[in-house]
Amino acid sequence: MKVLKFGGSSVAKPENIIKIKNIISKYNDPIVLVVSALGGVTDLLLEAGSLASTQDQSYKNILSTLEERHLSTIKALLPVTAQSKVLSKVKSEFNVLETLLEGAYFIGEITPKLSDKIVSYGELLSSYIISEYLISEKLDAEFKDSRELIITHKLNGKNVVNFNKTNTNCVDFFKSSDKKITVCPGFIATSEEGVSTTLGRGGSDYTAAIYAAAIDADILEIWTDVSGMYTANPKMVKQAKAIPHISYEEAMELSHFGAKVLYPPTIQPVLSKGISIVIKNTFSPEEAGTLITKSKNEKGKTVRGISHIGNIALLSLEGSGMVGIPGISKRFFEVLSQADISVVLITQASSEHSICVGISADDVDKAVSIVNEAFEYEIERGRIKQVIPEKDLAIVALVGDNMKSHQGLSGKMFSTLGKNNVNIRVIAQGASERNISCIIDEKDVKKALNALHEEFFEENIKQLNLFVMGVGNVGAKFLEQIKEQRKFLKENLKLNIRVIGMSNSRTMLFDEKGIDLNDWSTKLTAGQKADKSKFLELVNSLNFRNSIFVDNTASEEVSNTYNEYLGNSISVVTCNKIACSSAYENYSHLKSLARTYNAPFLFETNVGAGLPIIDTLKHLIASGDKILKIQAVLSGSLNFVFNNFNDKTTFHDVVKQAQEEGYTEPDPKIDLSGVDVMRKILILARESGNQLEISDITNNPFLPEESLNTANNDEFFASLIQHEAHFQSLFTSAKNADSKLKYVAQFDDGKASVGLQEIPKGHDFYNLEGSDNIVLFYTERYPNQPMIIKGAGAGAAVTASGIFADIIRIGNF
Ligand code: ADP
Ligand code: ASP
Ligand code: MG
Repeated sequence: MKVLKFGGSSVAKPENIIKIKNIISKYNDPIVLVVSALGGVTDLLLEAGSLASTQDQSYKNILSTLEERHLSTIKALLPVTAQSKVLSKVKSEFNVLETLLEGAYFIGEITPKLSDKIVSYGELLSSYIISEYLISEKLDAEFKDSRELIITHKLNGKNVVNFNKTNTNCVDFFKSSDKKITVCPGFIATSEEGVSTTLGRGGSDYTAAIYAAAIDADILEIWTDVSGMYTANPKMVKQAKAIPHISYEEAMELSHFGAKVLYPPTIQPVLSKGISIVIKNTFSPEEAGTLITKSKNEKGKTVRGISHIGNIALLSLEGSGMVGIPGISKRFFEVLSQADISVVLITQASSEHSICVGISADDVDKAVSIVNEAFEYEIERGRIKQVIPEKDLAIVALVGDNMKSHQGLSGKMFSTLGKNNVNIRVIAQGASERNISCIIDEKDVKKALNALHEEFFEENIKQLNLFVMGVGNVGAKFLEQIKEQRKFLKENLKLNIRVIGMSNSRTMLFDEKGIDLNDWSTKLTAGQKADKSKFLELVNSLNFRNSIFVDNTASEEVSNTYNEYLGNSISVVTCNKIACSSAYENYSHLKSLARTYNAPFLFETNVGAGLPIIDTLKHLIASGDKILKIQAVLSGSLNFVFNNFNDKTTFHDVVKQAQEEGYTEPDPKIDLSGVDVMRKILILARESGNQLEISDITNNPFLPEESLNTANNDEFFASLIQHEAHFQSLFTSAKNADSKLKYVAQFDDGKASVGLQEIPKGHDFYNLEGSDNIVLFYTERYPNQPMIIKGAGAGAAVTASGIFADIIRIGNF
């Protein structure tokens, strides 16, 4: 014989019930078919009961919705000729149900007994309707009320199954039954006094296991809405996969910590008989599902699944009076157990100073008052502190039989959570070492599950979630490069880069699943109105692991928000120089936030666009080298200007051309005055370990005073014409010295300066072409022959690739 259980979603709609018929029609063996209430019905019955008990008439609406739903199910499934008997039976059951609810309404109270009676109608009705449907389809089926077979009795105030009586009833009944299919309601039973009882939420699984064990079934099949027990709840972790085969103990542990696909007590009855359990999907019956058996997982896999339970509260009993006094914990647990509060997780510090338990948040108010009452004597004398609950927490657990023989798993678990800024409140490891669990904030659950899943199951594919501010020249190129490289990065570097949010100055766009980079531009134009603080709010509320904020703007306002991102463990990558060249205090504060919150702050493109200048500097310093001197040409714009300026052109025309070709800032004075280069050398000096301000840098201007003092571009260009002779004299002087003019930044002996220099033939700077940049690092290890980095130092494509490189650095972090 086989026992098959179909859960709430499998029987929720008539078309699903037809699927069940198709599935079971293929079986040759006799079947016990256990069914849940139509999906959602148990919740509605409980709600109706609670409304009635508070004398709220709206329970009647629920009742009529429920009646209508059951009647229409009958009409959809049964041929008209077979309907009337079933319709009238169901209507008369609803009359009884109405009377029960009226009772609760008039008394203004609902007892556990009455509540059990009311909810039992869910399974009673579904199983009856399904049995009649199968009979009408000419299957050899009958209905059997589980309340006649499963008997419960009270143990410590709780209904537990009386297996002696139950097993005898089952053996006797199924031996005498000659039907191929017996349809039974799940979840419900009868007390020894003959009153309807229930087996706990999700208890239909248990009903099926009780039958399977009693009749020594060949197999217990749990049919549900997912294709097995997954490596994590598939509704929370998209990458989760069905586990093909696990042990009873692993399944029990996973379900205890929240894998609702199997009700935890279900395992016990079948485990002792060695009956296998299969979890199958009613909606994809061809999929293999999960097999649960005694055998260990032979391949020696360590972590088999990650589960979680939300809505947890933490209760800590603390105080010096607990040390060395036996019986305190016994009393603590007794009090909770007598109040029917189940403890999901326990930890005790070795000093015996405190015991901490995780319980359902629904029980917390009751728990606090009974514990404080029970320890009133000790609390009054200051030996124990009043218990104060912490709420909005969740348990996350790693489960696997072989975890005990592997070191480093908890380290990996906690460092993964730490890296993602998930605060761990309590840690517990089961004595069986089959689980490591911890309590975290409920708001972090999704992030924690996904980060852990990625770490333990996803072949180390790391997801990076980008939020891009600024999609102009550089930003658009950057998005294009990501689009082209995504596949390569996934396959070769195991990085999955997704752009979740983007914004320009007008609109912004968010897509939790990742924005399609083929047509981001049209979607962005149609997006919501841009708002920098709302952008930040959205990034924070999405709470994705490995989040990176990318700033492609030149805006000070945007750079002022970096602290908010870093402080929430969101990395920042930027080509905007403002933050790093602002007050030293701000720069170092951002760097310290990055360290504290484990969120890299990278700005390679601040100097030399895509050239690996800052990264090289960092590596030199990290490996113990010391920077003695930096000499550099860092302005692509100025290099362009002086490479093109000679006695056949005018300075004015060359600057104009540079501006028109996009080599300068819109305001060319920013480049020509040296401000941009000052920022860059400041950043290099700081990255070399020096505490410098922009005001400490000596600027030797080559522009005449008058040009520097102009108020706008027109005045500026006019002054260039006026002072052409000055510029020509700079050129001639260099030419006579067989030199070229280069705008040089220098950092030497703790001092930084910028200015125009005549560079003689043979110097490393002499042959610098176009808008190239060059940096010479003189260090203790490179004292005479400097380390040289040279190449294109401006342009959208190289800047974008520099940003990209920073993103990859974070991916490998
Ligand atoms: P049924 O109504 O069939 O009894 P349940 O809703 O009780 O179904 O259980 C199935 C649900 O369990 C799935 O839809 C899924 O959301 C949830 N679940 C939680 N953790 C897991 C897991 N590790 N594997 C599979 N399902 C899980
Ligand atoms: N119908 C019950 C519940 O929703 C039992 C079950 O479906 O397993 O909890
Ligand atoms: Mg269930």
